Amino acid sequence: MGNEESAPIDESIAPETLTERTVDAVAAYLNSGIPSKIIVMTGAGISTSAGIPDFRSPDTGLYANLARLNLPYAEAVFDIDYFRQHPEPFYALAQELYPGKFRPTITHSFIKLLHDKGLLMKLFTQNIDCLEREAGVPGDKIIEAHGSFARQSCIECKTAYPATDIKAHIEAKTIPHCHDCKGLVKPDIVFFGEQLPREFFESQSLLSEADLCIIMGTSLSVQPFASLPHMVKRSTPRILINKERVGQIGSDPDDVLILGDCDDGVRKLAEKCGWLDDLETLWAQTSLPNGSALGKGAPVAAAPKTKDEILEDEIAKLTQDIDETLTLSKRHDETVRKETLSSSHTHPRNAVYENKDGNLSHVFLSASQDGNVSDKRQVKDLKKDKERD
Ligand SMILES: [Zn+2]
Repeated sequence: MGNEESAPIDESIAPETLTERTVDAVAAYLNSGIPSKIIVMTGAGISTSAGIPDFRSPDTGLYANLARLNLPYAEAVFDIDYFRQHPEPFYALAQELYPGKFRPTITHSFIKLLHDKGLLMKLFTQNIDCLEREAGVPGDKIIEAHGSFARQSCIECKTAYPATDIKAHIEAKTIPHCHDCKGLVKPDIVFFGEQLPREFFESQSLLSEADLCIIMGTSLSVQPFASLPHMVKRSTPRILINKERVGQIGSDPDDVLILGDCDDGVRKLAEKCGWLDDLETLWAQTSLPNGSALGKGAPVAAAPKTKDEILEDEIAKLTQDIDETLTLSKRHDETVRKETLSSSHTHPRNAVYENKDGNLSHVFLSASQDGNVSDKRQVKDLKKDKERD
């Protein structure tokens, strides 16, 4: 097997840490005992094969469907101001995406394998789906840059809310309220108008300590996450496992590209390391019970569906759920929509939705969707926009 897929972009640049810029050399480095502080960075691309819908694709994406459902604008479902008025669409979506419905991919298990081998220093993920946790990666090793469903709290008094209670509400399709102040409860996913978690910024100092950086399934087009790979030392090998080259990875001396499907990429790397059996064993342990309705996207399903079919099913069901929810609150919704339209110059849409970067893409961005994000403004800039209104 050749290494053409991992060929460096500029072959004239000689490696400094690796012996050569190939998957074999990365495997040799991993087995050398030298790397012990691996930083992994992940995005939506590692979860698409789990059946998590692509939230950006204009054809099959969720936004296109949400927009059809008479929301004032599709991304309102993740806008904190809209949520205060109308938590129902978000909770319809949460019901669909709530952890436990999707099986981790073998790529998630690869991160767990690194942890088991004592090599993982920290995982930075843009995903909110908690599949790294479900694969067994401990929470203290994970920085969920855009938050996740792992915790929830009152949006007013910030009091933490019990996981069992929110789970019951989500299953019952009811809206949870704070036990203390009766405010709305929301999973700690970063919405528009909210800051990224403090630990995201506090953990960035670890990047300069890393002795290997593995970047998987991300377009690296959303700041501030996209800057992380530039914070590792130049002598630290950076491995990109992704559908396409992104973020100028490949231009440094020890950058190695493994282009293609993430699951194929980690299998290839694991095989070269002699870890493939361990990896497959770990992944087998993530099977959902009986390949039941919960087993979307998992190979345990009796009649495997194509990715497109899975996505279509997901979106059809989600659309139906949201439709039902919106129908219930239609009258109220229309009232607010009129208010929204009449005061559109002050609506967050103007500040956030039309501002393509830092918009909802900070929560859901498909690895395959890149190039539309022209600017790299930070969340704090968005906040300024809002304050200015
Ligand atoms: Zn409260």
